[in-house]
Amino acid sequence: MKRRDFGKLGMLAGVGSITGVSTVHAGKDSRGFSEDGKFYQEPTNKLPVREFDVVVAGGGTAGVCAAIAAARTGAKTALIETKGYTGGTITEGGTAIHSFYNLWKAFPEVEKRQVVKGIPLELIDRMIEIGGCTGHAEMERGYDYDSVCTALDTELYKLISMRMLAEAGVFMALNTMAVGTVMDGKAIKGVIVESKSGREVFLGKSFVDSTAYGDLSAHAGAEFVVPNDYACCNSIGLGNVDMDQYHAFLKQHDAVGQLARGLRSGQGNQLVRLSGRNVNLPKEYLTEAQAIGMSGTLTTVHNNYIMFVKFNYKVPGSVLNRDDMSKAELEVRERQFRGIELFRKFLPGCSEAFIARTSPTLNIRRGRLISCDYDITHEDVIEARHFWDEVFVYGFHDSAPRLQIKDGGTYGIPYRALCVKGVENLYVSGMMLTSDHRAHMSTRNTVSSMAQGQATGTAAALCAKSDVGSRGLKYHVLREQLERDGVYFEY
Ligand SMILES: Cc1cc2nc3c(=O)[nH]c(=O)nc-3n(C[C@H](O)[C@H](O)[C@H](O)COP(=O)(O)OP(=O)(O)OC[C@H]3O[C@@H](n4cnc5c(N)ncnc54)[C@H](O)[C@@H]3O)c2cc1C
Repeated sequence: MKRRDFGKLGMLAGVGSITGVSTVHAGKDSRGFSEDGKFYQEPTNKLPVREFDVVVAGGGTAGVCAAIAAARTGAKTALIETKGYTGGTITEGGTAIHSFYNLWKAFPEVEKRQVVKGIPLELIDRMIEIGGCTGHAEMERGYDYDSVCTALDTELYKLISMRMLAEAGVFMALNTMAVGTVMDGKAIKGVIVESKSGREVFLGKSFVDSTAYGDLSAHAGAEFVVPNDYACCNSIGLGNVDMDQYHAFLKQHDAVGQLARGLRSGQGNQLVRLSGRNVNLPKEYLTEAQAIGMSGTLTTVHNNYIMFVKFNYKVPGSVLNRDDMSKAELEVRERQFRGIELFRKFLPGCSEAFIARTSPTLNIRRGRLISCDYDITHEDVIEARHFWDEVFVYGFHDSAPRLQIKDGGTYGIPYRALCVKGVENLYVSGMMLTSDHRAHMSTRNTVSSMAQGQATGTAAALCAKSDVGSRGLKYHVLREQLERDGVYFEY
């Protein structure tokens, strides 16, 4: 027996119910292995089936709002989330959530307007009620980037989002991954899911992909691109730090960049956002911080804690490749370790800092971008364009002040931009839409993703109710429902 054949036998023995060895050598193996042993054909399984009206894949920023909206609109709704909690990148990536407001502070003639409301705002109001949010703290410095800082307690957001899903009657399938689709021509019939309970099929009439990676769309055969043009990140929370002391140091050097005061540990008018500019720190600090991709705008909701210190790393290879990402996970944890040393050594108020929280996995900013019926352009965003079929309006750009929405105004997100091209009953919401990098610097932000979620969940429920695909839904029906549910359409 050749060494290779022996290896194969060992592999088969692990599979179980081996009754003999002869078939191992006999061309295509009847137990499913290819001739060269490099592939295994899974046997056909009988999967248990559950029936829903709407199935949302991904319980993160957008998916939470999508599932709540669908259930409230009367659809029997399932939410599939691979982690043991909901909230996604809101709880893992961002410094503060951008933005419920227009950029009024940068434009003296422009009035302050809250441009996003609806379910996203309800979630934040619930967070404020339990002391898990800074409130919408107005920026005192650095307001040409954003006019407000709305920062959240990451752990409480997990609780509040799950509570609101439960209250809406959503069936939450946590620790469950969407791994495939059952297709009927160009329509999805069901999502194949996998969890500790095994594999199942969640049947539905209408579907929302909020997986950030576009997993469901890819399984359904949608077109996509993977630009790989952005760093991944694992952001951490630091304990045992004194932001006020750091602020005093920055002030002393006339080096305060961004600053906002809001609710902190239940007390108003406290420092909740801070960054330095042209800080006179030693070269050793600056060189090392750059080498480990550490970025330094600090926010907090609690005394002695700062959230979301980011470690960015441009993954060599692909964010969709497990092995590339496994190496990257280690690399970024090494960077965090080096980063905490920098804090301890150089930043006033941080000499005994420790890592109090990390994200469970690396976060992506752009994974798969799914082709939809309309692709929002850079000009749409900065020219503040509005559309006949818009589902909400938005007024923040991550590249401000370099790129801003005209006159501190808003642009519209058209319904077409959420309908997955070539699939009859599938929407996307969150970071998967908009292929233009500069436009994406606006559309992907948290509050926009949440509002996209409400729009797609509502649309999915209305489609399921009247048994039509996404292109059969009448815009006025959707618009009226969104307005009833508090979505704001004022420019
Ligand atoms: C590091 C970082 C920092 C950022 N900073 C800010 C900021 O300061 N302010 C701001 O406004 N925006 C910020 N953003 C942008 C914004 O946070 C994201 O674009 C937005 O939250 C994306 O929402 P989403 O719903 O698309 O994805 P997510 O919130 O990531 O949700 C996706 C969910 O799908 C789940 N999932 C994935 N695959 C599957 C599957 N196959 N089956 C089941 N579940 C699955 C995931 O576990 C996750 O919960 C940041 C983004 C990153 C990555």
